[in-house]
Amino acid sequence: MKSYKIEAPQLSWGADGVPRSNQFDDIYFDQKSGLEETHYVFLENNQLQERWQALASSDTPNSFTIAETGFGTGLNFLCAWQLWQEISQQNDSKLAQCRLHFISVEKYPLTQETLKEALKMWPSLSHLSDELITKYPLLCQGLHRIELDQGRIQLSLYFGEAADGFTSMNANVDAWFLDGFAPSKNPDMWNEDLFKQINRLSQVSTTFSTFTAAGIVRRGLQSAGFEVQKVKGFGHKREMAIGIKKEQALSFSQRQAEGQAWYTNRQQTPSQVDKVLVIGAGLAGCHTARALANKGIKVDLWDSHQTVAEEASGNAQGMLYPKLASQDTSVNRFYLSSYLFANRQLNQLDQKGAIIWQQTGLEQRPTSQNEATKFAKLIAQDLYPNTVVKAADNHAIFLPLSGWVCPKKWCQSLVDHSNIQFHGHHTLNTLKRTENTWEASAKVKGESELKVQHYRYVVLCTANHKAVSDQWVNLPTKAIRGQVSALTLTEPLALNQVLCQTGYVSPPIENTLNFGSSYGLNDLSTDVTLEDHKSNLNKLAELLPDFDCLDKENVCTGRVSFRCTVTDYAPIVGPVPDKEKLVNRYKMLGKNAKWRTDDIMESHPGLYINLGHGSRGLISTPLSGEYLANLILQETSVYERSIENAIHPARFIIRALKKGL
Ligand code: SAM
Repeated sequence: MKSYKIEAPQLSWGADGVPRSNQFDDIYFDQKSGLEETHYVFLENNQLQERWQALASSDTPNSFTIAETGFGTGLNFLCAWQLWQEISQQNDSKLAQCRLHFISVEKYPLTQETLKEALKMWPSLSHLSDELITKYPLLCQGLHRIELDQGRIQLSLYFGEAADGFTSMNANVDAWFLDGFAPSKNPDMWNEDLFKQINRLSQVSTTFSTFTAAGIVRRGLQSAGFEVQKVKGFGHKREMAIGIKKEQALSFSQRQAEGQAWYTNRQQTPSQVDKVLVIGAGLAGCHTARALANKGIKVDLWDSHQTVAEEASGNAQGMLYPKLASQDTSVNRFYLSSYLFANRQLNQLDQKGAIIWQQTGLEQRPTSQNEATKFAKLIAQDLYPNTVVKAADNHAIFLPLSGWVCPKKWCQSLVDHSNIQFHGHHTLNTLKRTENTWEASAKVKGESELKVQHYRYVVLCTANHKAVSDQWVNLPTKAIRGQVSALTLTEPLALNQVLCQTGYVSPPIENTLNFGSSYGLNDLSTDVTLEDHKSNLNKLAELLPDFDCLDKENVCTGRVSFRCTVTDYAPIVGPVPDKEKLVNRYKMLGKNAKWRTDDIMESHPGLYINLGHGSRGLISTPLSGEYLANLILQETSVYERSIENAIHPARFIIRALKKGL
């Protein structure tokens, strides 16, 4: 059974403040020449200055991706970021319009405290290292995305074994920093799988540099298609190795798909991304719009309502409530990485005086003996770090990273960006494909003529509103009615964390206690009912036995909305498939479900979807918005590959094909 726990390194600190790894019996950097060594070995030998200068003066500057083995103290990363920033700030530099992606893997990640201790050594980098330390993720196995320098720097940090990390990723790497301790001290890392992944993630002209010139490393890189050369090493080291990739037989999409070509999510011939139309201004739409806007893309955001978050994302209080499974599945990995990301985003939010989020922790109490046994198993299995979940009294579990959010205020703060134009009272009427663009028409309140606009990129975040999306793809979503209730408190209530059992209750805000929620299958009525208030009050009584819930249904206020849920409990995020072509191209799956092909097929060009987040949108939409922005811009993905497939819009068609339906 795989665990999400990850081991921190055993360190000893020299009198000079240099950390040494006891596992590998080697230092992380040299106190006198650490900075120069990084500059020489990795920056100069990958010719980053020259390459970035060229990018800075190009008419169409692209983003640049570095991948590293062994994040350690992040020194190499910080030096690369510093150089990128210097070149971005030069006169007429166009580098500020694109992003540096830095991918790194780390089997024994430093804790936030030890990272801080180690980076004290480099005051010249403190303006960057302070931000890295603040945003550094919790030690939890898997892929973490950290946005730095207002989104100009994107760090993808995989905590775990190097080869596993790269196997799980989708990226197009421009330069490799092959660090990690020397093969003599760390033979396990420099293995065949690692070189195979370096090959898969590299394109023609990708370079590498490494401090070592060991034969096993040079041979491995030659087998990965690099032309390898020995050059002078740093300081007293005689030699090191560098190289360039000369050929790559497969396209980026084929290298990603590895036989499962139906799950490609990149466009084969992407057109320039100027402006994107996002339809639907709930959590999914607002996060998608903001992620694009942060990357310099102009966004038109349409919604039928006058303001943002008027439907399922509009409750007064929502909670960060992941359902953590006791098994390591792709869907669980999706929710776990999304949850950690959402928590980091919320903690970094400038709340500007309005309280949007409070990390109060959440106690989840078992609803039955069966669930109590499940929780006990979850804790006993030791699957999660106790910073994520731990045992609480009376067979409950406690999630310290959770708390409550005011979703509407969050959405409002997300769209408050100069690149986002929110258009309220715009109801999508039709979406047609013209030769190169999408023609979207909207009914605008108060106007008799339809408003018609053209876009190369459209993202549908339209939840249960399927009239238009159904023309392009028919998805198995279901609207489930939920009524929340609220009570004005007449005396203070000592409740300082979110409680969940059959229902949930959040700590009161402004003397109002918000609790819920009903679950109405096959009920599309929008009326607030006394019956649902009663059922919510019963659930509240279970959570707060001393609170007088009796006959309060008449004084409750309430709100009804509809969750957009999906049959397999994962949202639907990615490119919109062309069903007819998909079925035709991959019909072999009907005969042989294990069939594999690299024959990639285009989805509808520039059309994406982000919906089906059910009642977990507060957790899943921050990262799904980021994912779509990176997909549209052809950049490194925030998700592991198995997650991308688990949320792919084509998955239902593929599953049906495999079953011969
Ligand atoms: N690049 C780092 C920096 O800038 O501070 C220094 C890296 S340090 C010399 C080597 C790192 O590789 C250590 O942090 C070590 O834990 C990590 N490492 C060693 N073996 C690994 C493996 N198999 N998978 C992932 N990381 C590994």
